[in-house]
Amino acid sequence: MLKKIILSLIIISSILLTGCTSKKEKTDLLSVIKKRGELIVGVSYDSKPFGFVENGKLQGYDVDMAHLIAKRILGNEKLVKFVEVTPSDRISKLCSGEVDMLAATMTITPQRLEVVDFSIPYFYAGQAIMIRKGTSIKTVGDLNGRRVIIILGTTGEKNLRYFAPEAILQGYKSYQAGFNGMLNRKAEALTTDDAIIAGFIMDHPEFMMLPQRYTQEGYGIAFRKDAESKTLKYEVNSAIAELRKKGYLNHLKATWLPAPSDNFKNKPTPQQGPSD
Ligand code: GLU
Repeated sequence: MLKKIILSLIIISSILLTGCTSKKEKTDLLSVIKKRGELIVGVSYDSKPFGFVENGKLQGYDVDMAHLIAKRILGNEKLVKFVEVTPSDRISKLCSGEVDMLAATMTITPQRLEVVDFSIPYFYAGQAIMIRKGTSIKTVGDLNGRRVIIILGTTGEKNLRYFAPEAILQGYKSYQAGFNGMLNRKAEALTTDDAIIAGFIMDHPEFMMLPQRYTQEGYGIAFRKDAESKTLKYEVNSAIAELRKKGYLNHLKATWLPAPSDNFKNKPTPQQGPSD
């Protein structure tokens, strides 16, 4: 266990020192992808409604985004290979060259921009709080002194430390593990993006999301921070701009996210908070 932790710390520090660049690709990544005939994308497998497995099928907003980008780059939306990532391992899987890019509910933050590159935003989420119905928690301030579940490596972890410094944090490595913690009453609240909480509540109506949003966060596709990824990033940015213009992004939102009346607000009220 100790060995694993030391190894992870070495990988993280080397990424922070050198930035996220791949030793594998020394030619233009977009050309490599075209030659390979397949786009390799890291997505979450437990972040309904963005990336999740149901009836044995990987699906969701981020999965559809990846298919649409493959269609633009390779002329066929089926030419995508998906690799599972979690908030704790996605940057190392990108930097090691295991995936070409990440479409994984990843917020664009100044701190992450020092390590990876991002596309223009394709979706806006806000930090929110999930509680079991009937709990007395009303605002983020009420989390002080209470046990709260966060997913390690997410903006939710950082935001909670800022907005409720006295909260007793319980960190989980994956969304599924965090939600299981709520199901097993390990904590009184869980905090993460409203879009992800909305997905959990769809299947578990005994929980609810508080109306307050205490950040506003744009999701971006992440790339390695090297010259080889520049044309891929350019192509993805053009794809996102076109998808927005043609109404496909609204269509994806309407397909995957519940209506605002179902306790999901995609126009969160931002508050002052940490930048990453
Ligand atoms: N959007 C947040 C983040 O990038 C939480 C979701 C996630 O990590 O998958 O940290």
